[in-house]
Amino acid sequence: MTKRDYYDILGVTKDASKDEIKKTYRKLALKYHPDKNPEKDAAEKFKEISEAYAVLNDDEKRAMYDRHGHAGIDQRYSTEDIFRGADFNDIFRNMGFDFGGGVEDIFDQFFGRRRSGFEQRSHRARGADLRYDIEINLEDAYRGVETEINVPRSETCETCKGNGAKPGTKPKTCSHCGGTGQQHTTQRTAFGMVTQVSTCQKCRGQGKTIEAYCPDCRGRGITQKTRRIELKIPKGIDDESQLRLSGEGEAGGNGGPNGDLYIVVHIRRHPKYQRKGVDLYTRKEISFPDAILGSKINVETLQGTEKLTIPQGTETGNIIKLNGQGMPHLQGRGYGDLYIEFFVKTPKKLSRTARILVEDLARELEKQDEKV
Ligand SMILES: [Zn+2]
Ligand SMILES: [Zn+2]
Repeated sequence: MTKRDYYDILGVTKDASKDEIKKTYRKLALKYHPDKNPEKDAAEKFKEISEAYAVLNDDEKRAMYDRHGHAGIDQRYSTEDIFRGADFNDIFRNMGFDFGGGVEDIFDQFFGRRRSGFEQRSHRARGADLRYDIEINLEDAYRGVETEINVPRSETCETCKGNGAKPGTKPKTCSHCGGTGQQHTTQRTAFGMVTQVSTCQKCRGQGKTIEAYCPDCRGRGITQKTRRIELKIPKGIDDESQLRLSGEGEAGGNGGPNGDLYIVVHIRRHPKYQRKGVDLYTRKEISFPDAILGSKINVETLQGTEKLTIPQGTETGNIIKLNGQGMPHLQGRGYGDLYIEFFVKTPKKLSRTARILVEDLARELEKQDEKV
């Protein structure tokens, strides 16, 4: 069969602009896409227009074609190379087709590896997401931490690069189904001839068979590994926050993308501080005389030690706020505040001298109140 002229296939003139070519192709793709068009030769037609588009959309390939015709293209590019340059994802976005994995699936169609939608997706499945729980201190959350974690997960087998075949051998196209992964059985019924499509029994829908299995994964294409992964926990992180490490989950099947790894961060209860958002709360015991007379004391903060003046006449429940001594904002700059609530320690036991002094004090206070 002689190949038709690319310009004729799209129905554009030799001096058509790229924009015109793109528009025309989109229109034709809508018409011939196998998901939309049930006619038998639609897939063939779809491939033909897509190839014409892939060449004419690419300046270099188009120049080559204009000068040397099909021979120029076929000598220089493999079929996959012809399609590779064109951004089909961009074309098909918003067109209402379900391409599952995107451009890879379109290639599958062009190269005859298309299986029914359900099977295709299940075999090129995205790997599962993983969850890893980690516990850190409030101090870690305050400063941010960089650490390493060991994550058990499945990975694409390095020995066979995931195809399951022994090194030096290759999976073969299934002889039973010719690589489609499907088998057709035709039966005569009361309604006429009925063709039933089912998963190929020989290759179990894979479209490929392996004669010698890879010794490391026994043909699965996937092995179990414990992977050391660097983890950066940002300062200011909240309790129960999730960090997503894209592509660090389980390996996908048959070249499907990896899943993601979700790190769930738990923050240990701190003996001193309670956290509410970016603010911290703490309680500080002060002595009876300090409460009455006022004083200067030291308080611990997450940044170090802070000198604090207790005003004269401080009562239990009085609060002092230290600006900027709370937790850092996760996004952006600045810190929350630290609230210190005082409670006055009442002595439970008194020495003889202390008792006499307090009794004197009580009498003195009574006199003072009468004067007021
Ligand atoms: Zn392997
Ligand atoms: Zn088969």
